[in-house]
Amino acid sequence: MAKYTGPLCKLCRREGFKMYLKGERCYTDKCAVSKRNYAPGQHGKENKKLTQYGIQLRAKQALKRIYGMLERQFRTYFEEAARRQGETGEVLMQILESRLDSALFQMGFSVNRRTSRQMIRHGHILVNGKKVDIPSYRLRAGDIVEIKEGSRSTQQIKDGIELTGKRVSGKSWLEVNYDQFKGTFTRLPKIEELEVPVDVQAIIELYSK
Ligand code: SF4
Repeated sequence: MAKYTGPLCKLCRREGFKMYLKGERCYTDKCAVSKRNYAPGQHGKENKKLTQYGIQLRAKQALKRIYGMLERQFRTYFEEAARRQGETGEVLMQILESRLDSALFQMGFSVNRRTSRQMIRHGHILVNGKKVDIPSYRLRAGDIVEIKEGSRSTQQIKDGIELTGKRVSGKSWLEVNYDQFKGTFTRLPKIEELEVPVDVQAIIELYSK
């Protein structure tokens, strides 16, 4: 799958908030958003007023970047959400959050979704006792995610738990046992539980034009 390979901190600075794309640095005062909280580039400090379209576009770009997605896959998720029963914005968020890479990050086993994807592709993750090496694998209520026994002492996992192990607190759709390196995706989250830092409705409006 194609992926973005440019500078990650620039993406956060463009959106104006931390998207936790890098790893350990994101949790320190070396974070570029903490140091320079204005858009990159020559005119980054100018306070430009966005049009309605500009607001919608920025919201879409931000959500795509948070979940590490390129346009085509993101659009496919939107179309699926629009077809399914329920409020499109909430269904879209539920699709994104039920991906294995997202759940692993939200459970606090990895420092970011990018690392989650790497861990999954390298075969470190089991779902209901079976190896799953597809980051976009969709979890269902009751699925148990587990770090493979031989992979539990890797630095990636240690860093994840040490830096983000408390991430799961307050996420009532997830249950995690760090001693057993296991987490359960108990149900789909509601949109208000997710603290999404972007206006999802603006994205729906953009795609519905
Ligand atoms: Fe974003 Fe992390 Fe870079 Fe901060 S350090 S700007 S959160 S990628």
